[in-house]
Amino acid sequence: MENNVPKDAPKKIDNCCTLKSNYTIDTSILKQYDQRNLIFNRIHNDASWKGYNKNTEKQGLRNITEKRRGYTRIDYALAEAAWTVHDVWTGAFNWNRFIRPGGSSLMGEKWYQDIYKVENLDVISRKLKKAAKFYGASLVGITELDRRWLFINKRNLTPLKLPNEIKSVIVMAFEMNELGIAASPTCLAAAATGLGYSMMAFTASCLSEFIRNLGYIAIPAGNDIALSIPLAIDAGLGQLGRNGLLITPEYGPRVRICKIFTNLPLVPDKPLTFGVNDFCRQCKLCAEACEVGAISMEENPSFQPACKSNNPGVLKWYVDAEKCYEFWCDNGTDCSTCIAVCPYNKRRKIPP
Ligand code: SF4
Ligand code: SF4
Repeated sequence: MENNVPKDAPKKIDNCCTLKSNYTIDTSILKQYDQRNLIFNRIHNDASWKGYNKNTEKQGLRNITEKRRGYTRIDYALAEAAWTVHDVWTGAFNWNRFIRPGGSSLMGEKWYQDIYKVENLDVISRKLKKAAKFYGASLVGITELDRRWLFINKRNLTPLKLPNEIKSVIVMAFEMNELGIAASPTCLAAAATGLGYSMMAFTASCLSEFIRNLGYIAIPAGNDIALSIPLAIDAGLGQLGRNGLLITPEYGPRVRICKIFTNLPLVPDKPLTFGVNDFCRQCKLCAEACEVGAISMEENPSFQPACKSNNPGVLKWYVDAEKCYEFWCDNGTDCSTCIAVCPYNKRRKIPP
């Protein structure tokens, strides 16, 4: 088991390697995250920050006018359209069963109302995972809900109250298009990202409805409700990298993550360790490639946050989300360079 605890780490640490997962927490610091600090909320609520009221539009229009390679009108059309399912279908992350307009199901409205009796936890967990992949997930894992990862508020800053019966989280990862991500920071990488979000919306809504059809609660979320990466780590999907992203054995950091909170009884998966901490100590490729130095070059992880948008209390390399977002504005679209250069971002052989 890896141990990434530096010699000068605070004493009151809860080294989760031996308990539940493979990160180290300072329980005297860690708090549930307040989404007011989320970088995308600070664009509108933090006038003290350089990124206040800034977006990618100004540079994006300049890029189109100049016909920059990877930033043409066609490239922007591709990237913006990739978000369609996620952005347009706002019901995808509904907390309740969808109402089908005017008898759209031949099965009517009674058959799903009894609660399905789970007789074998292994069997239902296996079937649930098969369903997740059937609907489009690349990877799926299950964890008990650790409520420390829940936000204190929703994305719209209203208080978050998750029902007490919720005990499990199903975490899904979606592979992003490898050639698109390789073209970062152009619009082609942004298109791969947008498509990842649309796939999240599609799959999370279908799988949630599958769970509701069994009579259980299903609350789907993209980036809302809780921190996705610690939940994904708890669910055995991968480890945390220097770039602040989930590193999976299958696709490295080239995934998007969503999750479903449920009271369906399930068997949790075990966290996974495959050498990421030690590798990231030496590698630093993402930090070198980041054009604005948003990723730490320090050899060891620390408890020192890089900016107000970080959630302190976990031993890791903190990423400066302010510098990152400011680069997106200057670039004219979002960036995935720290995903593209990561050696764990395996590339399948492309047939001749
Ligand atoms: S997304 Fe781009 S700007 Fe942001 S940390 Fe990664 S490489 Fe740096
Ligand atoms: S690029 Fe290297 S240092 Fe960065 S996350 Fe990947 S393996 Fe770790």
